[in-house]
Amino acid sequence: MTAYDPCAHCEEVMQPFMDRVLTDAERAEAEAHLDECSYCRKRYRFEESLRVFVRQAVASEPMPVDLKRKLLDLRTPLQ
Ligand SMILES: [Zn+2]
Repeated sequence: MTAYDPCAHCEEVMQPFMDRVLTDAERAEAEAHLDECSYCRKRYRFEESLRVFVRQAVASEPMPVDLKRKLLDLRTPLQ
């Protein structure tokens, strides 16, 4: 157990990073963290592939508009 958890901050950084709403400086910080943190890297890849999957499903499947909207809402914007 370490007193300082370097990933405590990750959660806050990753969500806006994936939603592409960071400033250049914030994005650089998030990318630097991804470089050195395998936990966040794995998480990021997983979340990214999930988003790609949802996007593709929404684009290619004929589905009710309601369901499309629900899937897109999974993107959970922070604001
Ligand atoms: Zn991390």
